[in-house]
Amino acid sequence: MTEQAETYDGSCHCGAIRFRFKGKPITGAMRCNCSICRRKNALMSRAYYPPADFELLSGADDLVVYRFEPNMVNHYFCQHCGIYPFHDAVEDPELGYRVNLGCVEAIEDPHALPVRVFDGRDTWKYLAC
Ligand SMILES: [Zn+2]
Repeated sequence: MTEQAETYDGSCHCGAIRFRFKGKPITGAMRCNCSICRRKNALMSRAYYPPADFELLSGADDLVVYRFEPNMVNHYFCQHCGIYPFHDAVEDPELGYRVNLGCVEAIEDPHALPVRVFDGRDTWKYLAC
């Protein structure tokens, strides 16, 4: 791959959770219509960042995990400010982290990015749009 990898820093609102990840330049976002994404209404990264490319800089003790049936995803949130910075997959830790683009410092307006809609409610595929 010739495309340059970018390094991104992210944080929750209060700053207890800080993280860094690297990957292809972020040029788009995804949102999902599942029962939790619908409620939190965050724009998430299209990519998952594998553990080798993702570093939790601070806040391991401030993160709380929430799961719901069928327990496929660890939904992490900050116990102080309630922001949801990323999630990962329960049964496939090597898949890595999908991050909340609103937490990424270099992205001033995630809503300015092209968004694809993921049908997490039914088909687990991107919807045509
Ligand atoms: Zn926080």
